[in-house]
Amino acid sequence: MNLTVIDHPLTRHYLTVLRDRHTTSEEFRAAARRLTYTLIHEATARAPLQQTNIETPLEPTVGYRMPGVVAIAVLRAGLGMLDAVVDLIPDVKVGFAGLQRDEETALPMEYYIRLPDLSGSVVLILEPMLATGGSLSWAVAKAKSNGARDITALCVVAAPEGVRRMYQDHPDVRIVAAALDRELNAQFYIQPGLGDMGDRLFGTL
Ligand code: URA
Repeated sequence: MNLTVIDHPLTRHYLTVLRDRHTTSEEFRAAARRLTYTLIHEATARAPLQQTNIETPLEPTVGYRMPGVVAIAVLRAGLGMLDAVVDLIPDVKVGFAGLQRDEETALPMEYYIRLPDLSGSVVLILEPMLATGGSLSWAVAKAKSNGARDITALCVVAAPEGVRRMYQDHPDVRIVAAALDRELNAQFYIQPGLGDMGDRLFGTL
């Protein structure tokens, strides 16, 4: 299984802030950003580097730069992870994949897609809640049709159902998550989860 669940103390701390129903939107946005730093750290751990010659104030030496990273934010909850990505990888290119979940069928309905050319890039897909896996599977298919080969999904919480779906549809895609939760409920929310990520980020409860 291509799933890594981070058990770093900071990840667990910020996940707890996100799960807590008493966390305000302001606190929630800050915790989402801080937790995302820890996911990026793991997601880029094996990213290819370009070797480069530089000079320190004392002498020439060899350095390394990370080339060609593209992040794709799955709207709208993926926006809650974007600030952390732009902060850590300032020259990242950013694409957007707009999906709406049909509340009855839980199937994704496309309303916006804008991706740069992804060939040769390390692609990070920001999909905080991996529930049924429908949205992420769709976003990955779009990324692949734009040339992506090296894809990692960053998730705050994953459900077993979504992980299984991704393993069936895209076994080559790595998933880095802060938690693998118990199950989906009848409304396709993750349990114990953290509720509706978009609503909690943007105060639309
Ligand atoms: N989307 C959310 O925001 N929360 C869930 O639990 C599932 C999907």
